[in-house]
Amino acid sequence: MIIEPKIRGFVCITAHPAGCAKKVADEIAVAKASPLESGPKKVLVIGSSTGYGLSSRITAAFSSGADTLGVFFERPSAKGKPASAGWYNTVAFENEAHAAGLYAKSINGDAFSNEIKANVIQTIKEDWGTVDCVIYSLASPKRIDPVDGTVYKSCLKPIETSFTNTSLDTNKGLVESVSIEPANEEDIKNTVKVMGGEDWELWMEALSEAGVLTSQTKTVAYSYIGPEVTWPVYKNGTIGTAKLDVERASRAIHEKYGIEAYVSVNKAVVTQASSAIPVVPLYISILFKIMKAKGTHEGCIEQIVRLFKDHLYGGSLNLDEAGRIRVDDWEMDSEIQAEVAAIWPKVTTENLRELSDFASYQKEFLELFGFGLEGIDYSEEVEVDLPIKGLIA
Ligand code: NAD
Repeated sequence: MIIEPKIRGFVCITAHPAGCAKKVADEIAVAKASPLESGPKKVLVIGSSTGYGLSSRITAAFSSGADTLGVFFERPSAKGKPASAGWYNTVAFENEAHAAGLYAKSINGDAFSNEIKANVIQTIKEDWGTVDCVIYSLASPKRIDPVDGTVYKSCLKPIETSFTNTSLDTNKGLVESVSIEPANEEDIKNTVKVMGGEDWELWMEALSEAGVLTSQTKTVAYSYIGPEVTWPVYKNGTIGTAKLDVERASRAIHEKYGIEAYVSVNKAVVTQASSAIPVVPLYISILFKIMKAKGTHEGCIEQIVRLFKDHLYGGSLNLDEAGRIRVDDWEMDSEIQAEVAAIWPKVTTENLRELSDFASYQKEFLELFGFGLEGIDYSEEVEVDLPIKGLIA
């Protein structure tokens, strides 16, 4: 069929397999250009199909030559309709990994569930014995408690006081004011349940009990801090509270299992998760313009290659005062942030394209779903029902 983008709110409900394959191939080329001498060889990535998790899987495989096991929650093609972007990304990743002679298997299902954890452990035991590195890169709006079936929903709200600031309607290109009412106790608790560190701890507990961790195993979860303009709704809001809990979990994992467990604070990039956060798309559009002019612009793959090469498996961990790895250092550079702060109050719908790089934001958003990539003929018929070769479940 011929596939066109169909955008609904913050997501595109269609995805293009050839475009996704091109984007994965581009990321693989970046990873290959940065080979790792002493990187991990058996890597589990939880949340491996899009964004930071996909780039982590690509870096593990193509910078470090690692065997990878990926876990994600994606929609296969059904009734002739296209699959989700993460499905096609994984099809493409596995095709390339297998062609390069690398082990790559995938598990599609709810990472919060006991079943998926058991499935992963069985696979690691049978195929690898132990695991060198566990990347935790889930971004989910909800979590079903594996014990009692309670459904928890996360939210993006400020705490204590309401928040009003400039935001961007990315579909219409309108700069407008947004007001968000503060979270109640339930909202905060639920967001911590979904996006906090509990599930990461459960994964590490299950892996430890199964005897597949070694004293050399490393684990990393991702976080974000960002500029003050987003703090009421991010760092000091419900999601920031959940991220603090992820930091608590990193210390607990280290203490319980004696392994290296880190939180890596990554930069703001266009992903399916970040496009849903109020204020962030406008901030990203302004940030891109400034970082591109300075030559420090990075996407997910450049960030993760730097994380592996300069911090986890080379260079120096260079932890901050709270014990976190900071690959958001170029974003948080004081000169960059001063420029963002100077532009922020001036930006309007009329000057949006002049003062920010909204064009790149829009392009990167479409690329997440395989659209707008160079070299792809979007008028051509494509097969939508593509299998993931190493799909276990
Ligand atoms: P994303 O939406 O691109 O990826 C989320 C991944 O989680 C996908 O692979 C998806 O399939 C998987 N997933 C979601 N629910 C699942 C479930 N129930 N079971 C199994 N898999 C599930 O998100 P992202 O932006 O790459 O975010 C990943 C992490 O990076 C998050 O912790 C996020 O806070 C952090 N981070 C993101 C940014 C940013 O700007 N996007 C910046 C810094 C840190």
